[in-house]
Amino acid sequence: TTTQEPTITFDSLNLKPEILKSVKFAGFTVPSPIQKQAIPIILEGRDMVGQAHTGTGKTAAFSLPVLSNMKLNGKVEMLVITPTRELATQVSDEIFKYGRNLNVKTVTVYGGSSYKRQLDLISRGASVVVATPGRMLDLLKRNMLNNFAPSVVVLDEADEMLDMGFLDDITEIFSYLPTDRQTLLFSATMPQPIKNLANKILKDPAFVSITKGETTNTDIEQEYYVIDEHERDDAIIRLMDSENSTKSVVFCRTKSEVDRLSNVLSNAGYLANGLHGDMEQRQRETVIKGFKNDSVKVLVATDVAARGIHVSNISHVFNYHIPFDPESYVHRIGRTGRAGTKGKAITLLTPLEFKELQRIKQKVGTSMNHAFVPSKNDLRE
Ligand code: ADP
Ligand code: MG
Repeated sequence: TTTQEPTITFDSLNLKPEILKSVKFAGFTVPSPIQKQAIPIILEGRDMVGQAHTGTGKTAAFSLPVLSNMKLNGKVEMLVITPTRELATQVSDEIFKYGRNLNVKTVTVYGGSSYKRQLDLISRGASVVVATPGRMLDLLKRNMLNNFAPSVVVLDEADEMLDMGFLDDITEIFSYLPTDRQTLLFSATMPQPIKNLANKILKDPAFVSITKGETTNTDIEQEYYVIDEHERDDAIIRLMDSENSTKSVVFCRTKSEVDRLSNVLSNAGYLANGLHGDMEQRQRETVIKGFKNDSVKVLVATDVAARGIHVSNISHVFNYHIPFDPESYVHRIGRTGRAGTKGKAITLLTPLEFKELQRIKQKVGTSMNHAFVPSKNDLRE
């Protein structure tokens, strides 16, 4: 990590001038590590697997070169599959932003809304479709798309799609797609089922992995607190106060814990709201919207519910319980410290949970500091 590499700029990456203009307009000055490595490979037309930590700019890493290569012939040339509707919208907005100087038309396709509108937009000359797996498969199975043959297919946040149970849908989607295509797979982590999927659907892919040290975002300070089981609620409240957290996510293990803790925090005076998979879609959207516009300051969530929510300016991630799985730890803390801002991740654990801490430390490979919960006297009443 001490070797000095020459600074690579966006200008030296052979992107179309119209794309470079949008990149500058977005305020990006230097490409991130995954962007530096992925852009030349994708411009060449090769298949690629890209792994890099959350918040490292994977969307632009695939969008910029694919847009730059587009023929813009009035047909769908790019299909991006993302795990959730929120993420689909976000990726779509980002692609629109990068492609605006080329007048690239982008359509977002997801369940729970009208087929007709989505199909109309596609048939009116869209070049990019960003879709969730369920609705995409639905459209293909019902044969609702004419001559749908995207030359580039991107699986974004593949590990999240695996966690959400979309692997079979994705495999089936590929049975409807032309075999003569460029396929790109992006993921924050690379569990075995994702590697297997990559072997099945990609051809001679290049592998780009921004690992260890680089993967764990050094802008995230990590601390853990050892407590007794009965102290959890008290500890989380005291930490929130002493940390002056402005916007935080508190991760729980179960849906009922989310409900209970969000009540406890609301009663303690926080602008807290819960988010989990048993809530209705509309209710979830309201909570996410509130969190984005700062009317909700504390989001209490399960892992799965928090996947796919990419909100900027999260100052703190709290692990009310330490996660069992090191990869979910990486995902959770990646909610903060995005795009060069500082963030802090705080984990509560009981002495019985040290094993889990060790496993996470081994996997993540960065320093986590042992800290002590401020006593009641350290805080003003
Ligand atoms: P990932 O998919 O890796 O989690 P995103 O693609 O969502 O990350 O990017 C995270 C944030 O970083 C976004 O807000 C994006 O606009 C910003 N970003 C991406 N590339 C750059 C760059 N080269 N310079 C500055 N900010 C960037
Ligand atoms: Mg992403």
